[in-house]
Amino acid sequence: MPSCYHCGEEFLQEDLIYCPECGQHYCKLHINPIDHECKIVQESLGISNESTPQADLFVNQQNVISTEEQSSQEHPIHRFTPSNNVEDISSAEMRGTTDGSFTWYRKERHIPENAFDPDSGIEFKGIMLPHKSEFFHLLIGGILIFTIGVIGFYNPLLVKLKLTWTILLLASFYTTAFLFHEFGHRQVAKHFGLQTKFRLLTFGMVLTLIGLATGVFSLLFGLTALPTIALPGAVVVLGLNKIDRKTGLCKAAGPTVNLVYGSILLAISFFIPKNLYPLNLFVGVAASLNFMLGLFNMIPVGILDGQNIFKWNKGIYFLLFSALAILLIITYFNIYAPIQTNPYVPESL
Ligand SMILES: [Zn+2]
Ligand SMILES: [Zn+2]
Ligand SMILES: [Zn+2]
Repeated sequence: MPSCYHCGEEFLQEDLIYCPECGQHYCKLHINPIDHECKIVQESLGISNESTPQADLFVNQQNVISTEEQSSQEHPIHRFTPSNNVEDISSAEMRGTTDGSFTWYRKERHIPENAFDPDSGIEFKGIMLPHKSEFFHLLIGGILIFTIGVIGFYNPLLVKLKLTWTILLLASFYTTAFLFHEFGHRQVAKHFGLQTKFRLLTFGMVLTLIGLATGVFSLLFGLTALPTIALPGAVVVLGLNKIDRKTGLCKAAGPTVNLVYGSILLAISFFIPKNLYPLNLFVGVAASLNFMLGLFNMIPVGILDGQNIFKWNKGIYFLLFSALAILLIITYFNIYAPIQTNPYVPESL
């Protein structure tokens, strides 16, 4: 059976679409040139615009384990040609597609052990400081998120009321909401035996540092801080090659962690005695941060988790989405309720 040149998934011939740019066939998820890295495919097939699009893929046999059924002679979409000439491999061929936080690998690509090792031969696009440990990446990511949190939650009124600690409390909860979310992705990927690491992403770091700079600027000049994008890094998973249950569960794990963590915080906020106000209120705010972060990641666009969850299973997508949305609304109603009806405010106030 013919297969999608990008994900390796087998399809009926009529369900595969031909890309005239690179001359390969793709499933409907990968027909968009951006989704199958058309430029890289062209590069790796040695296609210059004027040459024949049906060029063979040259790969170094030592680096490839083909899982494609060799018997599928019906429509030989591509064929491997043994070659011992290392020059034949353009670096593009060993590149994964880092879809934000996920690296898609075509089935027939052999993934070396310790693929994250800078000498593994696999080049990740968009990952910063690849030779540093995962702990280092988590540390830098955590510090940046915490700093952005402090700037974002800073409010002169809180300082005046001697409630500066609440700013640090919220920034800490925000950081854990982010890190736990990422660990959700990581642990599920590990459970499936996939190689995974938290990595700082260049593009996200640029956005985060710009956000940090504008935040500091607005603080210094007493302006209202703009909402900033705080996404210095993400868990990169290697070896997912199509949207299936594995991919869906890896992706859904992040928002699910925020749903669970937020629900626990929401419950705790009601168990904290009212005489400790405003601690109970701020734990409620911390719960809302989780629901917000989860919901934001459920937006079904671009590199956000939502897109792949939506493509995988619409039922689970809507369930997760509505649970987060409903809990966010409930939490907001409680936090912002007027003093008379606010469940967190003690009667004596
Ligand atoms: Zn495909
Ligand atoms: Zn193409
Ligand atoms: Zn995520």
